[in-house]
This record gives sequence, C-alpha cells and structure tokens, in this order.
Amino acid sequence: MKTAKNYKFWFCTGSQDLYGDECLRHVADHSAKIVEGLNAGGKLPYEVVLRPTLIDQASIRKTFNEANNDDECAGVITWMHTFSPAKMWIIGLQEYKKPLCHLHTQFNEEIPYDTMDMDFMNENQSAHGDREYGHIVSRMGIERKIIVGHWADAAVQEKLGSWMRTAIGVMESSHIRVCRFGDNMNNVAVTEGDKVEAQIKFGWEIDHYNVNDLVEYVDAVSEGDVNALTDEYYSKYEVALEGRDEAEFRRHVAVQAQIEIGMEKFLEEGNYQAFVTHFGMLGGLKQLPGLAVQRLMEKGYGFGGEGDWKTAAMDRLIKIMTAGVPNAKGSSFMEDYTYNFVPGKEGIIQAHMLEVCPTIAEGPITMKCQPLSMGNREDPARIVFQAKEGSGIATSLVDLGHRFRLIINAVDCKKVEKPLPKLPVGINYWTPQPDLYTGAEAWILAGGAHHTAFTYDLSVEQMVDWAAAMGIESVVIDKDTKIRDLKNELKWNEIAFRLK
Ligand code: MN
Repeated sequence: MKTAKNYKFWFCTGSQDLYGDECLRHVADHSAKIVEGLNAGGKLPYEVVLRPTLIDQASIRKTFNEANNDDECAGVITWMHTFSPAKMWIIGLQEYKKPLCHLHTQFNEEIPYDTMDMDFMNENQSAHGDREYGHIVSRMGIERKIIVGHWADAAVQEKLGSWMRTAIGVMESSHIRVCRFGDNMNNVAVTEGDKVEAQIKFGWEIDHYNVNDLVEYVDAVSEGDVNALTDEYYSKYEVALEGRDEAEFRRHVAVQAQIEIGMEKFLEEGNYQAFVTHFGMLGGLKQLPGLAVQRLMEKGYGFGGEGDWKTAAMDRLIKIMTAGVPNAKGSSFMEDYTYNFVPGKEGIIQAHMLEVCPTIAEGPITMKCQPLSMGNREDPARIVFQAKEGSGIATSLVDLGHRFRLIINAVDCKKVEKPLPKLPVGINYWTPQPDLYTGAEAWILAGGAHHTAFTYDLSVEQMVDWAAAMGIESVVIDKDTKIRDLKNELKWNEIAFRLK
C-alpha cells in the first residue's frame, strides 16, 4: 500500500502565568505524563508529541503557525490544565489550518477528598478553563473534535485514536490525484460532478487521459514480467476453468497481469493514487481491467467504475484513513445491484462488473473468465469471493449543483443464504440500517448513488467528522433514522448550506 507520511499529533496545554512558576512546572509535568500515557496506551495509530505549555498570545500564535508549517504534524490536541484566557487564543486559532482536537480531560481521575485545597483547585481546573477555551472556538465557528474523559481511560484513548484517522483523512485529501482513463459514462448523472469545486473543497486533482495513453504502457510490459505475475496469480488464487481450455484461460489471465503492471507504472509515474475506467472506452485494451483493478485496489489505490472519479477519490481516502488498522477487514468500491425482499432476510447484493477489492474477502478467492455481457472485448479475468460479515459503512459523495453531500449508511454485512454459482463477481451482501425499507428510502431521498466507497474499518462518526472538517454536508442513515426527521433534516440543510 502506498502509505501516508510519518504523521504526528502535537499536544498543546494551555495555561497562563497568573499562578506562579511552581504551578506551571506542575502543569508541564502533568502534560508530559499524559502524553507518555497516551503513547504507551497502545490505542493511538500515531504518536503524540508534547509541546511547551502555552501561556500567552505570542506563544500560542507561534505554535499554531509552526504546526501549519510542519509537514509531519497532522493536527493539534489542545487542553487547558488551568485557566487560559481565551482572547489569547484568537489570533493563533485564526491562523491555524489543520485538524483540531479539544481533549477535555484533567490530570487526576478522582477528586482528592482528604487533601483538596484552593491551590489544588486553581491548578486543576480543566472543567473551568476548557469551557472558556471552548467558548472562543465555538464563537469563531472553528470545526474541532471534542473528546471528554480521563486521559488514561481506554475508551477516551480509543476516541482520540479514531479522531486521528479522521485527521489523516483531512490531511491526505489534498494529496489525492485521480487519473481518469476515459470520461464519465454518457448520460449518467450521479457519477458526474464539478471537478473544480472538488479541488477547492477537497484538494483533489482530477486529470484525464485517453485510454490509449495507458495502452502504450501495457503494450510495453515484457513477457517475462507478465509470466511472473501470472504465476503469482496462480499461486495465490484458486482456478475455476468452468469448461474453458486451460491454455486459453491462462492467456486471458495474462492479459490482466499485463494490464496490472502497465497501469501501476502509469499511475506511479503520474503520482496518481486513484483511478477510473469505463467499460465503453477501452481503446486498444483487450479486456476491461478486472483482476488488474482488484489487485491495484488491494495495493491501496482508489477506484471508481464508469468514470466515477468521486467514488474513486473516496475509496482512496478510506484506504488511507484505515491504513494500519489492527485486524482490518477491508474496504472497496461497491455497487448496489439486486435486492432480496424475502421477509426477515432483506438485503442488497453488492458487487460490480468485476472491480471488487479482495481486502474485504473471506474464504476462497477464485479466478474466473466469463463474458461481461456488455461492451465488445474478450471475456475478462477476475477474482471471485464473498465478503466478510460484520458492520460497515457505505459512503456516497454526490454533487447537488451548489454543494457536495456525503451520505453515510451504517450497514450490516451478512453471508448470502445460498451459493451463487453462476455469478462470476466478488460480492458483499448487506442490510442497510435501520432496515432495508427505511434505509433504501432514506438513501434515495438523500440522492445517494448506486456506487459507494465501503469499509468495515471506519465508523459513521469518523466520516461525519471528516465531512464537517471539509466544510460539506453529511447525511447519516443508521439505526436512529426516521423518514420524517430525515426529510426535515434535508430541507433544513438546504437552507443552512445556502447560507454558508
Ligand atoms: Mn457501476
């Protein structure tokens, strides 16, 4: 996987010089212990770095600007140990451009009943000082994550770790470059969008190439390299000939190996982390890229079918946000295909023509060559599997003309009841929350696409926070969704976002 930078998060404690040097020594000492504890807790995906206590406007402004300019700093975690008059924070906050977290904690977990005096109260007054600080952040309308609780509590550390991944999504969004091999599918609305606005909002660079630019790279791949990668496929995946001639099958598979190598080289050279294809714009390619795309998604590239650059970028974003999640269950480009309306067993078959990422697979992964029933090329090789069970999120970014909306649906993935021997694609099967009927109605009301960027490894909250940090609307469909409330929410958002 193409990984992000060696990101770190700065821990900045706020105070002032009213309480004397001894108190400030304690503040610094406590902050160091908290940072040490956070790093030792094993819950954070990135390191926390302690910065000197901030006690006046100049030090606050300087620190926030240093954070802006430090490539490895992905965000600042703030906490007021004592009281830190918030007017001091205004200019620094105004100039700060990166993700902000307010860890509303205190050094001691319990009230020291027997010994507490006024000195202790003055020194340990986060309940007081964090409200003053919170007020100015709210007044200034700055998006930040607030996490409340004792710093040593595993649940608090997990929340902080979870926010760190959101922050990485914010930081990495502006590094996403999408390569379009071909344009959007003609006449399709939901996969279209304003690429200039996407660059303004998300920082995405979205370029276009004629697919024959890629064909040159594919044609240049050596036979030895193709054979070596084809051998790797045969060693990794099961083979289902399904009546095909063995040599002919291998020749079809080798076409995908050649595409994988050529495409990866093209993307590497152009510094692209996401890409789209279009089954109707294949130029000199012999097959629709299938297995090749599946393998590149597994390596961390974002993908969207039929020119869907928004989903490709979201897929990449999700892959970078979930990099290194312990026991990750995977993420993929997905498409809503077919319903099961049998009472009690309701769900949606999720698949695509070919391009489903094997990181979500469980059980055997089998290579097949089957007709596409669309387009005019050779039967493409692909890998086929079933996805894992468990909860996940399906996200769809849509362009409403004057703004972007991110729709986030909590879904419960299940095994299909019976095998699907004639369906030659990797599949997932899920029931949207709160149930298929409400979930699908809500999705359609919100204007969600048939394409999604899906993962088991992020929460609804993480994506809601990401959308908020990017300054766009998010609509959640989960166990609490009620249609009447959702309709009102959409109506009110219409006004709220027009005012922005
Ligand atoms: Mn599609």
